[in-house]
Amino acid sequence: MSDAAAAPGGRPAAFWMRLGLVSALVLLALVIWGGKIYLTRLFSEDQNADAAVRATLYAGSLQSAMQRHSVVPLLLSRDPILIEALEDGQFGEADERLTTFREEIGAGSIFLLDAGGRVVAASDDRPRGEDGSAADFFTLPMADAANNTAYSIVERPDGGGYAFHYSRRLVGEDGAPLGVIVVTVDLGLHEESWRRARVKVVVTDGEGTVLLASEPNWRGKTLANLLATDDSPSRVGQAIYDARRTLGSPSFVYIAGAPHLRSEVKVGFRSWTLTYFPTLEGVRAQVNAVLALIVMGFALLVALAFYLLSRRARAESRRIQRESDELRLLNRRLSFEMAARRRVERNLKDAEQSLEQASKLAALGQMSAAVSHELNQPLAAMKTYLAGARLLVHRRRPEEALSSFQRIDDLIDRMGGITRQLKSYARKGDGEFDLEPVDLRDSVRAALSMMAPQLNKTPVTITTTLPREPAVVMADALRIEQIIVNLLRNALDAVRGRPDRQIKIFLALGETVLLSIEDNGPGITAPDKLFEPFYTTKKPGEGLGLGLAISAGFAAELGGRLVARNAPDGGAVFELVLPRDRARSAPAQAAE
Ligand code: ADP
Repeated sequence: MSDAAAAPGGRPAAFWMRLGLVSALVLLALVIWGGKIYLTRLFSEDQNADAAVRATLYAGSLQSAMQRHSVVPLLLSRDPILIEALEDGQFGEADERLTTFREEIGAGSIFLLDAGGRVVAASDDRPRGEDGSAADFFTLPMADAANNTAYSIVERPDGGGYAFHYSRRLVGEDGAPLGVIVVTVDLGLHEESWRRARVKVVVTDGEGTVLLASEPNWRGKTLANLLATDDSPSRVGQAIYDARRTLGSPSFVYIAGAPHLRSEVKVGFRSWTLTYFPTLEGVRAQVNAVLALIVMGFALLVALAFYLLSRRARAESRRIQRESDELRLLNRRLSFEMAARRRVERNLKDAEQSLEQASKLAALGQMSAAVSHELNQPLAAMKTYLAGARLLVHRRRPEEALSSFQRIDDLIDRMGGITRQLKSYARKGDGEFDLEPVDLRDSVRAALSMMAPQLNKTPVTITTTLPREPAVVMADALRIEQIIVNLLRNALDAVRGRPDRQIKIFLALGETVLLSIEDNGPGITAPDKLFEPFYTTKKPGEGLGLGLAISAGFAAELGGRLVARNAPDGGAVFELVLPRDRARSAPAQAAE
């Protein structure tokens, strides 16, 4: 099975999954970074607009305070009570007047100086007789020929910032200066309200010096100085700041390390400028909230992807499980089948063995029948000869009896030969026999005489054609005879059913010795099986099926062969071809 989990390119699925996750994280980081910048800019713009409005409001309120106060000296410089007081030197009424006036307009404080610059009346309890002759609020109006309202600014001795004054000369009917009325503008309330609202606001004059500030310690410094020295951003902060600038984000200033926007508005009074620094904390919170939503969405997406992937993996593993289950089942079935097959094979082997045993037993039975038959023939012949010999002895014809004994002796030899043959077959050609020159003509004659009883029983015409020279082969005479007897007996069996029975024996000489025995029987039906051991068409007890097998084997051992064919006019022809022994044939031939 090919690895279903392997993606193209041979990399495992886990690699692609990891790559996907990493790229998703990188993408997320980019989205967060870009989103943060974009959103900060977006929200900052809102904030900026808001800041501009607020700054305008702050500036407006400052301007109106200044304007409100600026008219106070003009109003009071013509006040008859004050003028009268200065002329009379009685200030009780003047004090009252100033106090009520202050309460009406909500000014910081109002006080009256005499022509010598000493405080003579005040809305508050400042010490009377205090010398203010050197202060700007006295000298400026005293010196002003046009007698306008003078504006002056004094740094407070207690470090509480600056005091802003409007002052004007009071003059008598003759035009002589009587004194100076001064109103102090208290902008500390504004500062206080900024502080309370936790907003960072500064007001600078034309030179950039901080006059008013939500942070008291900023007063008196220049704004440029403040922003340059106070909590400048770190290197990383600077880099981010630069990057934001390049991307067109609004510019920030860092106050106490925290980024703030900057919104500047002209106050509309003496080139004052109000600068408002709205904090970015709100923007940050907004941006972070949106980013948190993005991250959450991303996490949800990743979770969904993982869920889908794991579902696929689960399905895959279920499939594999199913497949392996099927495989296991198949395996079990296969092993069952194999076991069954083994059983069948064993049974078959058993059956074969028993069959073999049975056929062996059958062969043994056949063979014992054949052997006993084979031996019975000479035994019966011996019995006949013995009876004949006994008769001859009784008749005192010992010579003839002797020849009978000789025949009996021959038969005994033959029986010995048969058992030897069987033994030799049992040994199956271990070549243990004595080779000697054998004249096949003698063998034919011997075989014929051995066959005499049978031949007498079944009348048959035997034509024997023998050469005049000896047909010598190197062989075992008994075996050769046995081959011939075997062939003759087969021929006799073959012609038995024929009315005119003929057997032709023909011995020819050449390079080899050829003995052919031809009959006019039915011929050969199974030429391939003929020489197989135990092949027989005869009834049990009549044939062993060994004759041809043994004979062919013997012929082969002698360097010759035994072949069979059918004659043209029917009937079988058996030919025994053996190597001729010329050396021994020649002297015999010469002797003849
Ligand atoms: P057996 O004679 O004991 O049957 P053989 O080996 O001698 O054994 O012969 C085997 C078989 O060959 C015979 O059973 C017979 O069928 C066949 N056969 C042998 N000689 C002849 C023949 N001359 N004509 C026809 N068939 C023959």
